[in-house]
Amino acid sequence: MTTIVKCPTCQKSVEWSEKSEFRPFCSKRCQLIDLGDWSDESNKISTPMKSGELTQQDTESLIEDIEAMLAKNDDSFFKE
Ligand SMILES: [Zn+2]
Repeated sequence: MTTIVKCPTCQKSVEWSEKSEFRPFCSKRCQLIDLGDWSDESNKISTPMKSGELTQQDTESLIEDIEAMLAKNDDSFFKE
C-alpha cells in the first residue's frame, strides 16, 4: 500500500516513499518555497513569505517568480 500526501506548497500528490526525496513536498523547489530559504537571497520577490498565509494565487505567483529566477541562475540554484 502506498501513502499519498499532498505537497504543502502546490497541493500536488506526492508518494510517501523513498522515491520522494523531498516528501511531503513534491520537489526541492516546493520545499524551499515553504522554508523560505531562498527569500533572503533575493529582493526581487515581494510576495509575503509567512508560511500558512499564502493563498493559492500567491503560491502560483511565487512559483512563477522562482521559475524566472531559476531561468537566470540555472545551475547555481540547485547545487548541493
Ligand atoms: Zn509541490
